[in-house]
Amino acid sequence: MTTSHEHFMAAQQYIPGGVNSPVRAFKGVGGDPVFIARAAGAYLYDTEGKRYIDYVGSWGPMIVGHAHPQVIKAVQESATQGLSFGAPTPIETQLAKKICEFMPSIELVRMVNSGTEATMSAIRLARGYTKRDKIIKFSGCYHGHADSLLVKAGSGVLTLGLPNSPGVPASLAEHTLTLTYNDIEPVKQVFSTLGSQIAGIIVEPVAGNMNCVLPVPGFLSGLRELCDEYGSVLIFDEVMTGFRVALGGAQAYYNVKPDLTTLGKVIGGGMPVGAFGGKREIMEQIAPLGPIYQAGTLSGNPVAMAAGLATLEIIAVPGFFAELSQKTEYLVTGLLEQAKNAQIPMTGVAIGGMFGYFFTQADRVDNFDQVNACNIDYFKKFFHGMLKKGIYFAPSAFEAGFVSSAHTQADLQTTLAAAEQVLASL
Ligand code: PMP
Repeated sequence: MTTSHEHFMAAQQYIPGGVNSPVRAFKGVGGDPVFIARAAGAYLYDTEGKRYIDYVGSWGPMIVGHAHPQVIKAVQESATQGLSFGAPTPIETQLAKKICEFMPSIELVRMVNSGTEATMSAIRLARGYTKRDKIIKFSGCYHGHADSLLVKAGSGVLTLGLPNSPGVPASLAEHTLTLTYNDIEPVKQVFSTLGSQIAGIIVEPVAGNMNCVLPVPGFLSGLRELCDEYGSVLIFDEVMTGFRVALGGAQAYYNVKPDLTTLGKVIGGGMPVGAFGGKREIMEQIAPLGPIYQAGTLSGNPVAMAAGLATLEIIAVPGFFAELSQKTEYLVTGLLEQAKNAQIPMTGVAIGGMFGYFFTQADRVDNFDQVNACNIDYFKKFFHGMLKKGIYFAPSAFEAGFVSSAHTQADLQTTLAAAEQVLASL
């Protein structure tokens, strides 16, 4: 049997760093990544046959668990009809309609192939619509790897310590203003001097790329008011939170309506799908209706639409999010209790199927500097201790965790029993 180590050695001969996305390389925690053979429900199985309870869920998409029979059936049936046509198909309308129903701020929606494409296109649209160049983002938020957005970003760039990537022209980065998450005052100040040049604000309404940070009361609504006052476009990047923290996303949870929303992850059910949508008046500026160009050979791919639609049908069943939230809450409450018993300082958050835990004395963590001040050493030891016991948490202290509907009470209890032992050993 080939071990993960052997697979990793082989991969590094042909793939930069042996991975096709940096966080997979375990750079944030050290050691070799686990190579996966298959997954079912709440479990991953590595190439050596070891089973893990999975709290990464492909970084968010697998909200109904891996290889859900309904999703697999939809994909198989669609695949037999052909993989891609480069012409419109009815299922694109079905998924678009569902998205518009579940997120009423979205009146028109365009499908793309990834979250990066969604945010990149939304930024272009905001700039084209307002005829302004500057955008505001928040440090520790990650919006994919488009040039304008790789400025003090979160996720893998934080894990690898590369928040400002070489290759992004300074002349482009200078249009991106980066402020502190959860602090409305500096946003007000920037608007008071530069308001007429600001195309828009892009924000993760719950930040999931610097661990998991909830918005403080007044932050999201404050951004909404400023965009209204200055005619700027408010973009909620719900690639992670959309159909994850609630059926209507974080905008429903916090009752703040953005102008544009970017989506990904759950809406593809594990297939490569992203989307951006919002106010009709703004979306009508996109080609072929308007002059702002955006396109894609594989956009709206029928097999990917089938996976997304099947996933949305499952999560739309009444009670789905109540039950999922209970599971996530149970997990985080249990972790905090175990940490307290082991006298390890920890705080944590749970929202819908998304969670975070922080090794810190602080009661709450509201921004990137506070995340960065947490005890990374504890994190690494905890991660590896849990991995050894068959619990697969995100291999970075700068990522959120994910619970799926496939996680059973027994899975959660097994996880907490493992955490009890690992925390006691720190
Ligand atoms: N925005 C957010 C909030 C994300 O979490 C991510 C990916 N983690 C992206 C954008 C980029 O999506 P993708 O990796 O599909 O390009």
